[in-house]
Amino acid sequence: MRHSPLSSLPADATGAPPGAAEHAALLADLHAENRRFRVAVENISHGLSLFDRDHRLLVSNRRYAEIYGLEPQQMRPGMTMRDILDLRAAVGSVTEMAPDDYIAWWTRHGEESARTVTGAVFRLKNGRYVALRHHTLPDGGFVTTHEDVTERRQMEERLAHMAHHDALTDLPNRVRLRERLEAALAEAGEDRRCAVLCIDLDRFKDVNDTLGHPVGDRLLQAVAGRLRRHLPRIDVLARLGGDEFAMVQTSTEEPGDAVLLAARLIRDLSEPYGIDGNRIIVGASVGIACAPPGDGDPDVLLRNADLALYCAKAEGRGRFRVFEPRMDADAQRRRSLELELRQALAAGQFALVYQPLVSVPSGRVNGFEALLRWHHPARGCIAPGDFIPLAEDTGLIVPIGEWVLHHACAEAANWPDGQKVAVNLSTIQFRNAGLYDAVGSALRASGLAPERLELEITESALIADWDTTIAVLERIKRLGVAVSMDDFGTGYSSLSYLRKFPFDKVKIDQFFIRELSAGSGSRAIIRAIVDLCRALGIATTAEGVETEEQLALLGAENCTEVQGFLLARPMPPGDVRALLARAPLLAAEAPFGAARLRLAAS
Ligand code: C2E
Ligand code: MG
Ligand code: MG
Repeated sequence: MRHSPLSSLPADATGAPPGAAEHAALLADLHAENRRFRVAVENISHGLSLFDRDHRLLVSNRRYAEIYGLEPQQMRPGMTMRDILDLRAAVGSVTEMAPDDYIAWWTRHGEESARTVTGAVFRLKNGRYVALRHHTLPDGGFVTTHEDVTERRQMEERLAHMAHHDALTDLPNRVRLRERLEAALAEAGEDRRCAVLCIDLDRFKDVNDTLGHPVGDRLLQAVAGRLRRHLPRIDVLARLGGDEFAMVQTSTEEPGDAVLLAARLIRDLSEPYGIDGNRIIVGASVGIACAPPGDGDPDVLLRNADLALYCAKAEGRGRFRVFEPRMDADAQRRRSLELELRQALAAGQFALVYQPLVSVPSGRVNGFEALLRWHHPARGCIAPGDFIPLAEDTGLIVPIGEWVLHHACAEAANWPDGQKVAVNLSTIQFRNAGLYDAVGSALRASGLAPERLELEITESALIADWDTTIAVLERIKRLGVAVSMDDFGTGYSSLSYLRKFPFDKVKIDQFFIRELSAGSGSRAIIRAIVDLCRALGIATTAEGVETEEQLALLGAENCTEVQGFLLARPMPPGDVRALLARAPLLAAEAPFGAARLRLAAS
């Protein structure tokens, strides 16, 4: 029998059928209630559909049509789900699930009455997401609410993406890389092995420091773009942070394949970049670690690739290294050296040696450069090149640098008046706010006249943080202390620094002196530097003078001061005093000659 609203009208209390007037009133009530029901259904924020036991539509609201991109008038009672899916297919709002599967899902729950399914989310072909709450009625019909959860879903997906990707390049991050590497290792068998490549840019910091962080950021994006080109042949590409990237490669013939890839990467990344009108050249270093066949721990592999990268960098950059167990031992040695370096200052293991700075052409000793030595109880005397970088990495250079300043000033205070002492400063010391005070306190404690102290800085100190460095240098200069630029000519823009700060002295790097006799352009460069410095009122010192020929050429080029093994090697404080006690020999009026100086210094 057809279900009619009237058949549900109640009989009155006497059981007699209602009269015509009552009947009309009841009908009006019913219409009013129906309208209220309609208003309620139309105004809920979710889409609503009600199907009968034959799976034909009884009721749906406007929101239901909207969610699926349909016009409300297209929805007619009696339609089947397939009719609706046909309409939805025309506007692209069907689910990604095949229509038959979707209908099966929809009706499957009818077998168990009063079954409720909540939280089922369907992705539509148009990219939207709809969450269903699907309730099977006792008579076999369904009532379902439909909620468009696209925005919420997209937000969740964005958050999940952000947790696993790097915001600047949109590449997977370290967390994601580790997950993917773990999966790749689990899949790789005896014949397919896994290699991890850690890639680090060379001189990226210089780009950030000189051109600013926005350019640095765009450079990193450009690098990511070049690395992406290799994606078809590799499994994962990730940015680990800063200027460090990583790749996972599963191949059959590693490490051969990984080595070829590394060489290609270095070549690729070293091509010039054009960013905001700047032509930028950076290099890249690569560390490779290969998993043993059918085995491999992701953390160990990543650490080994990182150790190999460290070695590639230490060996001069622009190259790749494959991990060897020896590297692990080296890293441990470095760590123990770091521990020992931390104790060396308190243990009194540091000492200074002094190398004369000799005037040309008089041969007079103007002063001495203080050079640091570490007398290690087991390893003997360690040269600064072997521990200063470590001291810089660990920040230990700050207390060590203060120690050098105090000791050099105290020693020089014992020398005859007029003898200067030169002290080397590291870039890191400029980043520490205490440098100015350390200089002042070393001068006060020793009683050394400020004019007798020279500070040597390298270009890297200026590149790192120009404004801070210059501000500190200007304050120090106002004390009366002289400032020299060390290793001049080895950096990128040595000349421009001469214009920006009134250096008292330029020390021409050993490299040019060594090349002097090779007939290269070194002589012309030295002449240009000396002429320029003379015009600017800056003294010039040639470093690393080892032969009579070099000395003669430097004299001919009017270099004002020389330093090098030919004249004297760095010597302990006792030898300095002995040498200065024979001062008349050095203040020679006779023509300048190394033989004479050597005699004096011996
Ligand atoms: P530098 O300041 O350019 O010092 C000159 C270096 O050249 C010294 O090496 C010196 O022994 C060496 N040298 C001098 N004459 C000759 C020569 O004729 N031939 C050759 N081949 N070498 C010569 P050293 O003492 O090993 O110092 C290396 C570098 O370590 C220094 O280069 C300086 O940058 C740094 N350094 C030394 N002492 C200190 C210090 O107390 N603090 C800081 N921050 N750095 C220091
Ligand atoms: Mg120096
Ligand atoms: Mg030097």
